[in-house]
Amino acid sequence: MLVSAKEMLQKAKAGKYAVGQFNINNLEWTKAILLTAQELNSPVILGVSEGAGKYMCGYTTVANMVKAMINELNITVPVALHLDHGSYEGAQKCIAAGFSSVMFDGSHYPIEENIAKTKELVAKANELNISLEAEVGAIGGEEDGVVGNGEVADPKECKMIADLGVTMLAAGIGNIHGKYPANWAGLSFDTLDAIQQLTGDMPLVLHGGTGIPAEMIKKAISLGVSKINVNTECQLAFADATRKYIEAGKDLEGKGFDPRKLLAPGTEAIKATVKEKMELFGSVGKA
Ligand SMILES: [Zn+2]
Repeated sequence: MLVSAKEMLQKAKAGKYAVGQFNINNLEWTKAILLTAQELNSPVILGVSEGAGKYMCGYTTVANMVKAMINELNITVPVALHLDHGSYEGAQKCIAAGFSSVMFDGSHYPIEENIAKTKELVAKANELNISLEAEVGAIGGEEDGVVGNGEVADPKECKMIADLGVTMLAAGIGNIHGKYPANWAGLSFDTLDAIQQLTGDMPLVLHGGTGIPAEMIKKAISLGVSKINVNTECQLAFADATRKYIEAGKDLEGKGFDPRKLLAPGTEAIKATVKEKMELFGSVGKA
């Protein structure tokens, strides 16, 4: 069922595990993630970037596809449909389209403007029982063409945004979107610890989950991270499985060119990645 991310994240924070946000790109992606969540009895968050929303023909198309799929596939675990790194305008559009959760990424604004805009969206989200994620300190790497340099958030600014009544808070702690460079310094656990000390029960969000070593993920969860975003890893798994299928010439055998066959190995690879992450994050059986 489609729900706000509030309850699932509060439970995760209290239970010391994290709920995965898996970004979707099309029907196969969505189906693979929903079926895996149901099979593992895990709550799940479907992430949609503004670019992916455009690609899938708009937020209304996405919301209707997800709602219909939850119904047709008898998905009973809690599912949140969440705008990832939304602009102020994008967040409004997703709320109107029927998303159950939105992120407003005001991290590129001066903190006063981030606070003012976040405040307005908190009021609107509360009224409609939608969860709202805010961000302090840009996450490094590239997200839909916006390149951040991997800042470490100021814990006091995190506290200011948390106090506005947001549902969950993303803070830069040295994490990066996409593949991590070989010379990456790792997560700043001192910063994470300081943020949690100041924000208390607030579920914290870790972006750029692809390629962070398992021990670091576990430590981050122990320090208050309750939502972890995974995007690139599913893309790499999908591409790798699809390439193998074509390189093995399987699309040339019989009806191997049928899209339902051609896209099957990639879809299975997404399922395997999602399962691995849910096991690592500890959300299995927590629906
Ligand atoms: Zn992100």
